Amino acid sequence: MTGRILVVDDVATNRIVMKVKLSAACYDVLQADCGKDALEKAKSQKPDLILLDVLMPDMNGVTVCEKLKEDPETADIPVIMITAMADRNSKMRGLEKGADDFLTKPVDEIALLARVRSLLRARDIQRELRLREETCVELGFAEEPGTFEGPGKIALIAPDSATATIWKQALESKCACKVKIVPREDALSELDTEMMPDVFVIAADLASRNDGLRLLSDLRSRPSTRHAATLMILPNEDSERAAIALDLGAGDILYEHLDADELAVRIKTQLRRKRQSDQLRSTVQAGLELAVTDSLTGLHNRRYALHHLDRMLGHQGRGLAVMMLDLDFFKQVNDRHGHAAGDAVLVVVAERLRAQLRRMDLLARIGGEEFLVALPDTDRARAIDVAERLRIAVGGTPVMVGGKTPPIPVTLSIGIALAQNGEVNAKAILTRADRALYGSKSEGRNLVTLATSSTARSAAPFPASS
Ligand code: GH3
Ligand code: MG
Ligand code: MG
Repeated sequence: MTGRILVVDDVATNRIVMKVKLSAACYDVLQADCGKDALEKAKSQKPDLILLDVLMPDMNGVTVCEKLKEDPETADIPVIMITAMADRNSKMRGLEKGADDFLTKPVDEIALLARVRSLLRARDIQRELRLREETCVELGFAEEPGTFEGPGKIALIAPDSATATIWKQALESKCACKVKIVPREDALSELDTEMMPDVFVIAADLASRNDGLRLLSDLRSRPSTRHAATLMILPNEDSERAAIALDLGAGDILYEHLDADELAVRIKTQLRRKRQSDQLRSTVQAGLELAVTDSLTGLHNRRYALHHLDRMLGHQGRGLAVMMLDLDFFKQVNDRHGHAAGDAVLVVVAERLRAQLRRMDLLARIGGEEFLVALPDTDRARAIDVAERLRIAVGGTPVMVGGKTPPIPVTLSIGIALAQNGEVNAKAILTRADRALYGSKSEGRNLVTLATSSTARSAAPFPASS
């Protein structure tokens, strides 16, 4: 993994020692020798991570961190604060201002590098999500982000129930979250329920060595829990296992003889991160859905249909039937009843069509009053049968659109083309289906026509049976 790391320290030898360590692990290192320089370089060079000394002559590191987090341009850059003395006060202030970790000099190299890897990985994921979100926004597919956020849900897996109760009380008094004590044995089984935790606090290693690490990797590998944040509590100074935990995907590490304030503030950071990613993920998801969906009917749109048809042609199995459907004289529906009534008819038609098809079938609205259907594993006889059913489902009963509008009769013309053995050219099949549809139109509408062969110019309609 590569990354650019800004090392901020007023003492040159400290910067050089850090640079040697980081360069050996193949990171690019930038340097700043005071708070002001750090803020400028963070803005102009956009490092992937900042290692920030606390005691500097011009500006305290905690203040630098605060300024970085206030500026939207630098707020997302992870910050590790480094201090010469274990001063609880500045540590808490740093964490509260949004620092991701607080390490004491001399810095344990294994712990530092594991933390750097973990923060850079989280940042890569965040960046990727943000890129996708930007694409969705640019394409006009992003929705307004929802703002409601309930209290965070924390699952606490403690070494024993007495400890668990003490931690739970301490946490609930310090942050607005719901804490649930989960026994180690239930941590994986009980989770499919309604209360899916945002954060897992895992202290199982305190009772039985490596049990927590095993649980962590289980949680990270399951689809239902892999996006939850995880915070490991480990025996004091166990930097080796801390490194393993971070590499397995733990979001943060704390050491035994727990400081409840510190746990609470670290949980808040994890929670904020998790919510940010959830938000991005759901915007992207919604954007993707919107990009392939027709907003009026909720059916797939043309873009999706054409791509998907290509895929279906690649996996033909036992036959593939493609149909073009077009409502008859639909312009008259608009002219007589208005465009809104026309829209309502389209929605009902879409529902009627969907009700006749299997889940594996493709149904899309590919034009104003034109639909595309593709049926896998479907031979000639069955294709004609289904098309007749669709024609009757739409035309059999006039559509009620509500209000004072009288029931509106609509009929459907259909053209069918069958994929010829091994045929992969979607365009050719669509052209045949279109030609067959034209046959239905010219023979009087409300008809199903099967394209007879790839070269057929005329097609044989099946007369309306109703
Ligand atoms: P034909 O039987 O030959 O298909 O006649 P038609 O009137 O259905 O065909 P034409 O292509 O001339 O007109 C299609 C009409 O469909 C034009 C437009 O008024 C209507 N239309 C297309 N898209 C929409 C839509 O999204 N909403 C509504 N309400 N009407 C639409
Ligand atoms: Mg039409
Ligand atoms: Mg049309």
